[in-house]
Amino acid sequence: MNVYDLIIIGSGPAGLAAAIYAQRAKLNTLVIEKAMVSGGQVLNTYEVDNYPGLPGIGGYDLGLKFREHADKLGAVFAEDDVVRVEDEGDGKVKRVIGQDHTYEARALIIATGAHHRLLGVPGEERLSGSGVSYCATCDGAFFRNKVTAVIGGGDVAVEDAIFLARMCSKVYVVHRRAELRAAKSLQEKLFSLDNVEMVWDSVAEEICGENRVESLKLSNVKTGEKREISLQGVFIAVGITPESQAFEGLVDMEGGYIKAGEDCLSSAPGIFAAGDVRQKQLRQIITAAADGANAVTSAERYLMKH
Ligand code: NAP
Repeated sequence: MNVYDLIIIGSGPAGLAAAIYAQRAKLNTLVIEKAMVSGGQVLNTYEVDNYPGLPGIGGYDLGLKFREHADKLGAVFAEDDVVRVEDEGDGKVKRVIGQDHTYEARALIIATGAHHRLLGVPGEERLSGSGVSYCATCDGAFFRNKVTAVIGGGDVAVEDAIFLARMCSKVYVVHRRAELRAAKSLQEKLFSLDNVEMVWDSVAEEICGENRVESLKLSNVKTGEKREISLQGVFIAVGITPESQAFEGLVDMEGGYIKAGEDCLSSAPGIFAAGDVRQKQLRQIITAAADGANAVTSAERYLMKH
């Protein structure tokens, strides 16, 4: 079997930045990606306004640019779903077991990112795809001139609400506190929109509807007051969960995030964590890309020693 110098698992901004750095470092590298379209969560972002040098670029376009850059440098990709990794320790070959194939490498970068979290209320699962969505840029167009609600108060919720306000007749933003977590610039944009109504201190209790979403039952956490809003769409944006199940027992984690510092060194020698799957302060495209660069630098140092 071909033993690669480096296998990168994941092809979001962290994985693709790592692929670019690995190609430039002339490491014999394979990138394993779950989906054929690279880019990770950035693909579902309507507009990215904080990536230096590219103000207002579409998330999909930015994801594509990362991929084109890696392709241009000759990065090699395989499409597979990694199930687990077998590691016998420092200096030993790491075996990556995928759904379709097994791969081997001397070093490994885990850049599997994160996926959206479920809200866990009645009606959510049953009406998922029938008015309940986790991606405004994917599904927003189905709600033209309709009433929708976004649940959450982070960057994603606010970006989604701004995006939806362009096409929906009304957008409610339901947040469990009276202050948003999202960046102040996003908040300003949101508050300037006439067709957005904030529903503060409130949580969703149930998403109702027979075959499609018809209403949302809310409860005010401070007053206990109940309210039911008639609407056609509910967009859930209550955070992310790291995509790390395949690596349980392999590397130390906390809350599902792989423990690693800025050098991306995990608890297992030769295994590095980059991007949203790593325990870190700020999960953005720029920090994911920076991790990709750091992880390859650390991997190069490790490979030189072994
Ligand atoms: P997030 O920042 O963790 O925000 C999640 C939001 O959902 C919070 O407002 C939280 O409320 C709320 N929430 C969590 N669980 C809830 C529940 N069970 N019921 C009701 N509300 C709940 O997640 P995110 O917005 O998905 O963003 C993920 C990461 O990507 C963040 O680090 C974010 O900064 C980054 N991101 C950056 C950009 C950008 O830079 N342009 C764009 C998108 C995402 P509390 O506030 O009360 O905790």
